Amino acid sequence: MAEVIANTAHYVRKIAPTILDEVEKWQYVYGIGAAVPASGIYRCTGCGDEITSNKGDKFPPQNRHQHANSSVPVQWQLIVKTQTKG
Ligand SMILES: [Zn+2]
Repeated sequence: MAEVIANTAHYVRKIAPTILDEVEKWQYVYGIGAAVPASGIYRCTGCGDEITSNKGDKFPPQNRHQHANSSVPVQWQLIVKTQTKG
C-alpha cells in the first residue's frame, strides 16, 4: 500500500472526479504493455504490487511482472495520480 507520513500527507488529497474521462482513468484496469493513461502509482489487482508509471509509457511487459499462478491476470489500477508538468 502506498504510504505517506504526517509531514507529507497534505501533499496527497482525496478527490471525486466528475468528468467522465477522469472517472474512467480511475476505474479501468490496464493490461500488460498498455499505454499509461496518467502519471502515478498503479497497483496490480492480482498481487497488490505497486509501480510508478509515467503518462504515455507502457505498463511492464510480461517478462517484467509475473504471477506464480499464471491464471491470475496482471491488471494495473491507478491508485495515486501524480501532478506532473509537461
Ligand atoms: Zn501482480
